Amino acid sequence: MTLRGISAHRIFDGTTFHFDSVLVYRDDIVVDILPKAEVPSDLSYDDYPDKTIVPGFIDIQVNGGGEVMFNNTMTVEGINTICKAHRKHGTAYLLPTLISATTTDMTNALNAVANAIEQRIPGVAGIHLEGPWLNANKKGAHDAGKFYAPSVSELESFPWLAMGTTLVTLAPECVDTEVLAWLKNNDVVVSCGHSNASSHELSGEKLPLIDGFTHLFNAMSPLEGRDPGVVGTALMADHAWCSIIVDDIHVDSANVMLAKRLKRQQQLLIVTDAMASVGSISNSFVLDGEQISVQNGRLVNAQGALAGAHIGMDQSVANVIQWGIEEAEAFRMASMYPARAINRSDLGTLKSGSKASVTILNSDYRASHVMVDGQLLS
Ligand SMILES: [Zn+2]
Repeated sequence: MTLRGISAHRIFDGTTFHFDSVLVYRDDIVVDILPKAEVPSDLSYDDYPDKTIVPGFIDIQVNGGGEVMFNNTMTVEGINTICKAHRKHGTAYLLPTLISATTTDMTNALNAVANAIEQRIPGVAGIHLEGPWLNANKKGAHDAGKFYAPSVSELESFPWLAMGTTLVTLAPECVDTEVLAWLKNNDVVVSCGHSNASSHELSGEKLPLIDGFTHLFNAMSPLEGRDPGVVGTALMADHAWCSIIVDDIHVDSANVMLAKRLKRQQQLLIVTDAMASVGSISNSFVLDGEQISVQNGRLVNAQGALAGAHIGMDQSVANVIQWGIEEAEAFRMASMYPARAINRSDLGTLKSGSKASVTILNSDYRASHVMVDGQLLS
């Protein structure tokens, strides 16, 4: 129960920048941000004089890292490796993300994440099941052979997490309203993605049951003159967040800025959609038996189609700042807004009572260190 502290040139608490100050925390909880002159004399603290402390980055879509694909390695060790790899890029918490898989593998993935949370593996905030309840017309790099429409009784048979957030990406036009309602009633965060829905198919009783939209612009019906599609619906749905990949490959930077201008405040958040190649010395890996490799910064399959992203959270934040998004807002897009999306009010800010989880950035926004639950990790 000892007080500890950490300091840097600047500390961003989610709202304000503090200078000449110390973030004081007890165990894994933030106590306060105090001016150095007011810090108790017996409190020693680590100081990073040329760096910036921000709320720990949260990435709600991570397929892999450190040479591990979650789809191929549904174990506590695999999850630990992915979390470690992404800490190199500033991510404090993430949702290991399962790309459309068999129901057996979905069960294995849920059990692995439950065990990782129970064993307090640093940085696991829950799980993201991306599919297999998707639309084959927007399959992206997923195996459409695994897609199906679940019944409520099938949903009831999964070993859903008791702790941590479960996020499901699905195509609402491919599932019944009762399925959406069941997920909502069971505290599953529902996101629309890999969807070819018309705006008409999304309107009515389904839209209020959707919490967010997965990787805006990618693998969804586009905005057109006669139909706003999923993209237009996502931009107009004030109650729902949108995640977006900002590697300058999946989405043109002008479209990121367009979304920033159009989407309601606090509802646009960054995801990496990262694969095993991030935080790894290897430039290729296997997904569904297919070789995926990095070519000129793009992750592509043998046919040259995009297959996830080769980017970390720190570079993502640096990109959007370079494109003109205000620095403080860029930090929030990587911390506060994803925290809200997964219903974690204890994450995403450095206010009193928040989790003591921070990302320490160099002046060029490259990650230097990450602290998770009061533990400083490199
Ligand atoms: Zn996807």
